[in-house]
Amino acid sequence: MKLTPLIKKAAETLDTPFLVLDLSYVKENYKKLKKAINNVDVFYAVKANSHTKILELLRDEGCSFDAASRGEIDKLLSLGVSPDKISFGNTIKKEIDIKFAWENGIEYYAVDSEMEVEKIARNAPNAKVYGRISTSSNDADWPLSDKFGTDVDHVIQILEYAHRKGLNAYGVSFHVGSQSYNKHKWKEAILNASEVFEKLAAKGINLKLLNLGGGMPVQHVKPIPMVEEIGEVINQSIEEYLGWVDGLKVFTEPGRSMVGNAGIMASKVLLRSIKGTKHWVYLDVGVFHGLMETIENFRYEVVVNNKENHETAEMTLAGPSCDSVDTIYDEIELPVDIDYNDIVYFINTGAYTIEYASPHFNGITPPKVFTVEELKEELQKYKIKSEEIMI
Ligand SMILES: *Cc1c(COP(=O)(O)O)cnc(C)c1O
Repeated sequence: MKLTPLIKKAAETLDTPFLVLDLSYVKENYKKLKKAINNVDVFYAVKANSHTKILELLRDEGCSFDAASRGEIDKLLSLGVSPDKISFGNTIKKEIDIKFAWENGIEYYAVDSEMEVEKIARNAPNAKVYGRISTSSNDADWPLSDKFGTDVDHVIQILEYAHRKGLNAYGVSFHVGSQSYNKHKWKEAILNASEVFEKLAAKGINLKLLNLGGGMPVQHVKPIPMVEEIGEVINQSIEEYLGWVDGLKVFTEPGRSMVGNAGIMASKVLLRSIKGTKHWVYLDVGVFHGLMETIENFRYEVVVNNKENHETAEMTLAGPSCDSVDTIYDEIELPVDIDYNDIVYFINTGAYTIEYASPHFNGITPPKVFTVEELKEELQKYKIKSEEIMI
């Protein structure tokens, strides 16, 4: 999202760090995605950002939700989300959570193992289960295919087992890896999924659901394919490989791509020091308080306020806690004259930031979160003239 005069004024005026959310981006992301994939039901992956205003906006747009745990299901139900709009997409569920979900009307459950099928069969007798196939996520910044999913033959066995246990063997899901740069990954995955559909159809089990998972990227420092381009690959692949399936349902579970570009994190420099050959810059935000994804070197666009075009040098950027893992980037180009109290923005940080922030670690509180409207209200307390914060 754009770094507006409002956000700049707020960063100068308010205590940092804070995360600003512009919900109009979320709405636009949802609409674009609905348009890009034919007849798709969008299940927003709540774990990317569970801010109440985001969930309410998507609920009102008619969006469905992918939940990882009872906590997320509880929150969705308390916001009046209908249980038929919630899918329990984590393949590793607590048995009492499955029971709770079933008793509250949730129908869809992800599986990638026999034991999970047994847990669901014991607690959610007629549930619709979908088997998760693994995909190679080598073109993604955040792979999800080792821990989750299994090979095509195993998914077939698992779904047959579910069928024998009285469950409704309903479909196939996958996840190409989060922040995927390669639109052809979806084609490969849909082809693999179609093999499960075909082999089970031959045994009299007719699957209905293709769940495309998440993985669509957000603009950071590398070029990304647009949602329309990915949608085109998906539409063509479904037509080509699954066109024969009667009444096919298509779900997608975006997290990052729904909220990533709806946030900017504002922070300040607490300290700068030169130790040996290393130039260190320490911020009031760090790995444990919002920038957790950087532990795997996930790259955000970093902007140092009013020094955008200054000469740069390689430095190390770190957070404020007493833990050496709290190093954001070992090597990053920063303005040579970056200084104490300079404002540093992390752009497009609406996804997987605040959700990870520890409320306890080192006694440092997570960044405050403001929507654009809340930020305007907050600034009114400081008697900022409205001309100064026009977007
Ligand atoms: C995290 C997750 C998603 C969302 O992935 P993104 O890459 O953020 O879009 C979707 N589905 C499942 C099952 C997930 O665990």
